[in-house]
Amino acid sequence: MDRVIYFDNNATTRPLDAVIEAMVPILRDGYANPSSIHQFGQQTRHRVEVAREQTAALIGASAREIVFTSGGTESINLAIRGVLSASREKRHVITSAVEHSAVRNLCGRLTDEGFAVDVLGVDGSGRLVPNELADRLRPDTALVSVMHANNETGVLFPIARVAAICAERGVPLHVDAVQSVGKLPIDVQACPMTLMSLSGHKFHGPKGTGALYVRRRTRIDAQIVGGSQERELRGGTEHVAGIVGMGVAAEAAERDMAAHAVAVGALRDRLEQRLVTTIGTSVVMGGGAERIYNTTNVAFAGLEAEAILILLSGAGICASSGSACSSGSLEPSHVIAAMGVDPRIGHGAIRFSLSHFNSADEVDEVCRLMPQIVARLESIGSASRG
Ligand code: PLP
Repeated sequence: MDRVIYFDNNATTRPLDAVIEAMVPILRDGYANPSSIHQFGQQTRHRVEVAREQTAALIGASAREIVFTSGGTESINLAIRGVLSASREKRHVITSAVEHSAVRNLCGRLTDEGFAVDVLGVDGSGRLVPNELADRLRPDTALVSVMHANNETGVLFPIARVAAICAERGVPLHVDAVQSVGKLPIDVQACPMTLMSLSGHKFHGPKGTGALYVRRRTRIDAQIVGGSQERELRGGTEHVAGIVGMGVAAEAAERDMAAHAVAVGALRDRLEQRLVTTIGTSVVMGGGAERIYNTTNVAFAGLEAEAILILLSGAGICASSGSACSSGSLEPSHVIAAMGVDPRIGHGAIRFSLSHFNSADEVDEVCRLMPQIVARLESIGSASRG
């Protein structure tokens, strides 16, 4: 493959070399089943438990509170369905309008199944208003499920405040922290959330790996029913190499997080500021809110995101948009729509998501190309209108 500038780290990240180096010997030689009694199996069990400690340490949990899953989506399904199944008499759920499709589509299913689902709106900058949450809690609220960092805009929800409101009213809180775990310090001791979903491939671990943090004494039922693995919360022989790889990624993230926050944050700011200064039609989505340091979502008014992405891709630059192209009509993403952004602006929203593998040279290359791309598309647009 030719040189690629990879600014799509919220979609997935490049695995660390240390992750791959830890996984290969497990795939090749450490293949025993961790549930087997023999010594070979117990060696594998040990590797899984080391990874559990590493994953728990990243979020201040105890190892017993970590359930390994196949990724963020499965963790979210286990959290939401698992809690609802264990609290049968309660049928009310609260979520937000800007959740990832894993939460959003599951909540759609719940509505079809007769649950009452309340959807909290956001303001023009994508911020959640915690007091609105307090007003919507009911005696039959089984669960609140909101995200920490938004995958499209990077806007951060005030999770500590949300957790305090839920804890005060005795309502379990699930946090989709897939985009923040490994990038921001999260301490489940300091923040009383009940459950939290995370995904290995978002912090330089392997795909197909994830975990659900389940606070001690939480009532939750398994959704994948089988053997007694994962303390009977997730049946099935463990993906040992993946789990080991995620553990290594978790340990590295914990160690390097502060340094990466500074370096990646500086790159993101440089990119954002230059785009906004050089391209008059650009608007930062969620620019008025507190955001995770690796993400910027810049809308180029009057243009279609897909056209921009195609030209960027032709130049070897990977970015993305939240728009879904359905039956020929390009809808702005539900996140941008929930923020009330004018569709003529929202249609041109591009997400650049960075990691510590990026460099200032890459940022400068994107900043050099973007004005040309915008000018080219504007001239095509005005020619077709004229
Ligand atoms: N939640 C958020 C906020 C995400 O960004 C993603 C993935 O993009 C997911 C959940 C799903 O995670 P996974 O790809 O590990 O299933």
